[in-house]
Amino acid sequence: MRALYPGSFDPLTLGHLDLIERGCCLFGEVVVAVLQNPGKTPAFSLEQRLAQIKASTAHLSGVRVTSFDGLTVRCAEDIGADLILRGLRAMSDFEYELQIAHTNRSLQPEIETVFLATSAHHSFLSSSVVKEVARFGGRVSHMVPEVVAQDLARLFNLSFSPEQR
Ligand code: ADP
Repeated sequence: MRALYPGSFDPLTLGHLDLIERGCCLFGEVVVAVLQNPGKTPAFSLEQRLAQIKASTAHLSGVRVTSFDGLTVRCAEDIGADLILRGLRAMSDFEYELQIAHTNRSLQPEIETVFLATSAHHSFLSSSVVKEVARFGGRVSHMVPEVVAQDLARLFNLSFSPEQR
């Protein structure tokens, strides 16, 4: 089966990556689709986010990376996805995710949304938390893939040393 995993990924975290890896095991194919949201100014450009995800998923044969704008269900139709994959960290995610899932199902009843619960040790991770920690020079090497840690260091003008890993 082909799963569409849509999101902002600004930037990709190890929580996202964990979901992609588990999605691959479950469904065989995961298409990670980065949302180009004209209403938001991302920290990383679309090209940077695509490059981060491609580099971080290079070890996975069932992953494809793309971008989209507009409706998620339209993207799912365009790529021939069987389902939309989303992650749940806490109750706070649940309400929002449920609303989006119902909306998508009302638009395209044939495409189910499947939720995977976060791995416990990634449950605190979000792109915003990672940016906040990196902005003040905190260690993020246990939160994001190395390529993202390097980009964050560049973004906030910090020196990146692999020993921080
Ligand atoms: P969006 O702006 O669409 O919420 P995100 O990049 O923040 O995009 O998240 C994409 C998806 O990944 C969402 O379903 C979110 O709940 C999930 N996700 C984010 N962080 C984690 C994590 N640490 N563990 C599991 N799922 C996560």
